[in-house]
Amino acid sequence: MRTLFGLTKNKKKPKNKNASEKRRVRRRKEVQPIGVVDKKYRRLQKKNQSENAFVERMARIWGYDIGVDLGTTSVLIYVKGRGIVLHEPTYVARYVATKEVIAVGEEARAMNGRVPDDIEVIRPIRDGVIADYDTAEYLLRYLLTTVLRKSFLFKPRVLICVPSGASSVEKRAVLEASLQAGARKTVLVEEPLAAALGVELDQAESSVAMIVDIGGGTTDIAVICPTGVVVSQSLRVGGEQFDEALINYCRRRKQLIIGHHTAEEVKKQIGTVDRLASEREAMVSGRDLVTGLPKTIIMSSKDMQRAYAGTAQLIIEGVKTILEKTPPEMIADIVDHGIILTGGGSLMNGFDHVLTRSVGICSYLADGALYSVVLGTGRALQEMEKFKDNLEELQ
Ligand code: ADP
Ligand code: MG
Repeated sequence: MRTLFGLTKNKKKPKNKNASEKRRVRRRKEVQPIGVVDKKYRRLQKKNQSENAFVERMARIWGYDIGVDLGTTSVLIYVKGRGIVLHEPTYVARYVATKEVIAVGEEARAMNGRVPDDIEVIRPIRDGVIADYDTAEYLLRYLLTTVLRKSFLFKPRVLICVPSGASSVEKRAVLEASLQAGARKTVLVEEPLAAALGVELDQAESSVAMIVDIGGGTTDIAVICPTGVVVSQSLRVGGEQFDEALINYCRRRKQLIIGHHTAEEVKKQIGTVDRLASEREAMVSGRDLVTGLPKTIIMSSKDMQRAYAGTAQLIIEGVKTILEKTPPEMIADIVDHGIILTGGGSLMNGFDHVLTRSVGICSYLADGALYSVVLGTGRALQEMEKFKDNLEELQ
C-alpha cells in the first residue's frame, strides 16, 4: 500500500511536474514567438483598419469621388483616398445576335481577332470619344461596379476626361453614359489640363507650358496657363496610326501582311522615330503577300523610322500650328519650361529628341506618362474648389 501509495505518489509527482513544465514550455512557445509579433501586428492592423473603416464608412455614406480616364486604348479609374484602382483595355466582347456581353477589358482584348463569327469584339471609344454608346455605357457601369462597394445613400461623383476638341454632342454622350452607369454627378475636364495636373505643372513658379498627350487614337496638344487651356488642338493621330503605318510599310516594302497586335508588339520592342537612334533588330512574322504562306523577316529600327516618319511629322506639324497660335508673351515661358510629352504614344523611342530638333524647344517625357491624365483627375478631385473654374459640371 505504502509502496503503492509511494509509487503512485512518486509517479504522480514527476508526472505533474512534467505536465506543468510541458504546459509552461508550450505556453512560452505559443506566446513568445507568435504572441509578441502578432500582438504588435494586430494592434497596427487594428489601428489602420479602424481608420480605413472610418474613411470607408463615411465614403459609403456620402458616396465616392472617382476620376476616370476614358481613353481609346485603356480606361483608368482613380478613387479618392485609394489611388489608381483600375487599368483595363477599352474592349468589350459580345454575341452578335443577342448583344449579350461575354467579356470586358483584358479578357475581351485577348479575344480580339480570335473569335468565331457569332462573337464581336467592340472598341466603344474611338478617337477619344464614344463611338458605340451602349457598349461604352455598359463598360463604364461594369468597371465602376467592380471598383466600388455599394453606397447605400449616394452614388459616386465622377470626373471624366474628354479630348480638348470634343464637341458638345460628344461631351453629352460621355455625360449620359456616366449618369446611366450610376454616377450621382459628372464633371468633365479637358484631357490636357488633367495631364498638366498629373505632372504637377501648376506647382511650378510660372505655369505656362505646352502639353502633348499622345494617346491611342488622338494627340492632344495644348498650351496651359494657371487659368486653364489657352490654345489647344486634338489631332486624330495616335499610337494606332503608328501601327497602321507599320502595317502598310510591311505590305508595300516587305510583301508581308501583319496584324495590329504584331505591329504594336514590334513598335514597343524596336520602334523609333529617330533616325539617329541606335540600331536594333527584331523578327517579324506574318503572311507572304504573294504566296499567302507564313513568312518571317528581320526588321531593323531604320525600317521602323521610315515607316513612322509620316505619322510623326503630323504630330510635329500640329505642335508647330499650336505654337503659331500661342500669344508671343507665353512663348518665352514655354521655351523655359519645355514641351512635356505624356500618354502611351509618347513612349515611342526618340520622339522627344525628334520634337526637340524640329521645333527648337526642349521636349521631355513625363514620369509615368501612361498615368498622368488619371493622376490629374485625382488631384482635381482633391482640390475641386481650386480647379472648379476649369471643370464643366453637368448633372
Ligand atoms: P489612350 O489614352 O488613348 O487610352 P494611352 O495613353 O493608354 O492611350 O496610350 C496607348 C498607346 O500607347 C497605344 O497605341 C500603345 O501602342 C502606345 N504605347 C504604349 N507603350 C508604348 C511604347 N513603349 N512605345 C510606343 N508606344 C507605346
Ligand atoms: Mg489618354
